[in-house]
Amino acid sequence: NQQIVLAKRPEGMPTHENFTYEDVEIKSPQKGEVVVRSLYISVDPYMRGRMSDQKSYTQPFPLNETINGTVVGEVVESEDDQLSVGDKVTGFLGWRYYNTTPASQVRKIDGEQAPLSAYLGVLGMTGLTAYFGLLDIGEPKEGETVVVSGAAGAVGMIVGQIAKLKGAHVVGIAGSDEKVNYITEELGFDAGINYKTVDDIQEALSGLCPNGVDVYFDNVGGEISDAVLNLLNSFARIPLCGAISSYNRTDGDLGPRVQTKLLKSRAKLQAFIVGDYADRFGEGVQDLAKWLSEGKLKYEETITDGFENIPDAFFGLFQGKNLGKQLVKIADP
Ligand code: NDP
Repeated sequence: NQQIVLAKRPEGMPTHENFTYEDVEIKSPQKGEVVVRSLYISVDPYMRGRMSDQKSYTQPFPLNETINGTVVGEVVESEDDQLSVGDKVTGFLGWRYYNTTPASQVRKIDGEQAPLSAYLGVLGMTGLTAYFGLLDIGEPKEGETVVVSGAAGAVGMIVGQIAKLKGAHVVGIAGSDEKVNYITEELGFDAGINYKTVDDIQEALSGLCPNGVDVYFDNVGGEISDAVLNLLNSFARIPLCGAISSYNRTDGDLGPRVQTKLLKSRAKLQAFIVGDYADRFGEGVQDLAKWLSEGKLKYEETITDGFENIPDAFFGLFQGKNLGKQLVKIADP
């Protein structure tokens, strides 16, 4: 069994120096515990925050301990009454080939609604983030304009599609022409902008949002958000989901400077974390699974092969290498 531990806290962009691989025993399960063999491991931008030693909504990852994230795996040993060998489960587990965990820490998944990997994306944390952030805070109405940044990522691709289902005019901002084509051609967004090649984001966006912006789902912060916030309509809503453009900065957040922009539009900006909605996850998964089965919701995954490539897959998030949800495949079921 191997695990990846946080060896050193990153300053700026993380590198291989921050991680160490260690050989560890597979602990025998005690009463109520199971051993889970990892099949897919999720790497997520928020994990960058936990690698730093700063006050946040969760504790920092301790140094020299295995990094934890969401995993889909298979039960290979069970000392629990509810879970049997062969069951597929998901939960917060270590970056390890095998985790021994209390059964209560994982949730059984049936794999019938969607392939197992989807429980780490569209039917998991990122799908639920899109669902609650957009519907609960963004509250898009028919005919309104919704702009989403990070639009071709795990959260953004779902935000735009749900906004379309609600009858909105949807514009996505992403970092390559391939991504813009994907969200417009495959997912049905009305328009998209490649923020890396466009001369002036605000000007391009205002052409694509002739009626202004009613909802801005912010995944990235920084200059992109500065531009969008200049186009807000009165009483616009801004679910502040993430600020990936600032996560690796060593000199603090990069904008957006919001005060007068919010005042002029009397917009509501509300940050949230998906965990705030934990008691409503069932409702979210039910709707997302229904839309999937009806073909109203599509998703994409970028699957990197091999445990040893977990750090590289994680770094890729900050370089825009992923289309849709970034996962690492550890083993076949
Ligand atoms: P994504 O799948 O969107 O992957 C990250 C993407 O961010 C990259 O593909 C890249 O796309 C984009 N990106 C990277 N660096 C920058 C930059 N400097 N400026 C602009 N875009 C950049 O990740 P997720 O969908 O999992 O997460 C999206 C956001 O949502 C993150 O900020 C994350 O922290 C947040 N989040 C918040 C949650 C919550 O509970 N509030 C839960 C889950 C995620 P591109 O090529 O377009 O640049």
